[in-house]
Amino acid sequence: DEDLEVLDAASEDPDAIYYLPALPVLAIVGRPNVGKSALVNRIIGRREAVVEDTPGVTRDRVNYKAEWTNRHFTIVDTGGWEPDAKGIDASVAAQAEIAIDLADAVLFVVDATVGPTSTDEHVVRMLRATKKPVILVANKVDDIHQESDAAALWSLGLGQPWPASAVHGRGVADLLDHVLTVLPEISTVAKEEVGGPRRVAILGRPNVGKSSLLNKTAGEERVVVNELAGTTRDPVDEQIELGGKFWRFVDTAGIRRRVALAQGADFYATLRTSAALEKAEVAVVIFDVSQALSVQDLKIVDLVLESGRALVLAFNKWDLLDDERRDLLEREIDKDLSHVAWAPRVNISAKTGRHMEKLVPALELALESWDTRVPTGKFNALLAELTQEHPHPLRGGKQPRILFGTQASSRPPTFVLFTTGFLDPQYRRFITRRLREIFGFEGTPIQVNMRVRE
Ligand code: GDP
Repeated sequence: DEDLEVLDAASEDPDAIYYLPALPVLAIVGRPNVGKSALVNRIIGRREAVVEDTPGVTRDRVNYKAEWTNRHFTIVDTGGWEPDAKGIDASVAAQAEIAIDLADAVLFVVDATVGPTSTDEHVVRMLRATKKPVILVANKVDDIHQESDAAALWSLGLGQPWPASAVHGRGVADLLDHVLTVLPEISTVAKEEVGGPRRVAILGRPNVGKSSLLNKTAGEERVVVNELAGTTRDPVDEQIELGGKFWRFVDTAGIRRRVALAQGADFYATLRTSAALEKAEVAVVIFDVSQALSVQDLKIVDLVLESGRALVLAFNKWDLLDDERRDLLEREIDKDLSHVAWAPRVNISAKTGRHMEKLVPALELALESWDTRVPTGKFNALLAELTQEHPHPLRGGKQPRILFGTQASSRPPTFVLFTTGFLDPQYRRFITRRLREIFGFEGTPIQVNMRVRE
């Protein structure tokens, strides 16, 4: 298909940059209870986004496929975290910030029956500072008599308010027609580069040293902009020269411009981490060695594993380590990170610069493993050897056999075994382990799948 054509073209000309097209992304932003979920439901034509009025509730899904008059796009519901009254400003600010970075256009939903609140005005200041198109939805305009409520929202300075009733459907068709006129055909944010600089995501919970590492690698101390209002925030990624070549660090905007959030921080962090992983080929997960490994750290590692991206572990703030903490740390790593023991590990200090030069070789190693293709002949010779040395145990008098194997894809390496019966999980782990012993695969997850042929 189209993607493959692009990949073919890219492989013929290694210096050129190609893009895999992605659907345009529309983000929905607004205060709690203005009707964001109802609007998402209405647009996707399903009851999928649960309408929740309870503060503090996190909706699981954030991405939805949508279609209108035969054009397809992705909706990101950034309002998945519904804060209580205290957290509203920070939460909506976080939504807006993420929407501006990760979407092609922003749908800003206001409750026309309430009119603009101070929170709305705060968000408007952020939205006006972006070059991305912003569409103002005056929701809860259920009948013609309420149209004047919508007109009052001209005062927000975001152009024409689009009156709509998410619950009754009124105005939504016109709104969507308009949305399609501002959304690009192909996303400018979600598109995937092929053949350009390799794409790295710097991940980690707050304060582990992500922006310090970024500043150190960029070779200069830059000012981290904490302030939200009034900044033009269009570049989302940064290109940095390291070890003689360029690397694209994805979603550095998310690292450099972060909102201080008391509540819901996990939700926004996950939203960002997932988006960064989508675009990245390799992830560097940063840990703060002065603190115990946390559930949040492990969750980030899990997100990387789920994404199938290459992985490097960076243990930062090594300058703060004393002998006692160091022993503890090694034990924590043995206990909680044994499932990613294959990932290259660098012990660094973004502050002193310790071992920073080890980052690039670790990235290169992980990417090389991620790209690996094992020829089918070699793989089958290996399988023959393995099964001879260690046959599958008999089960009910029968022995499942591996007939043939092949590497179905790389990035990450994914193998398929054609067998005469189900292989025990233990046996599959044995094969995976041996594959790692033989090929290394340092820094990449690998997958071994089965197809049972009766
Ligand atoms: P981020 O939230 O992950 O981007 O973390 P920052 O880069 O803002 O760092 C959080 C704090 O840790 C700041 O006060 C940094 O100066 C400090 N920090 C970052 N890296 C190191 C390090 O290697 N050693 C020490 N001692 N402090 C560090």
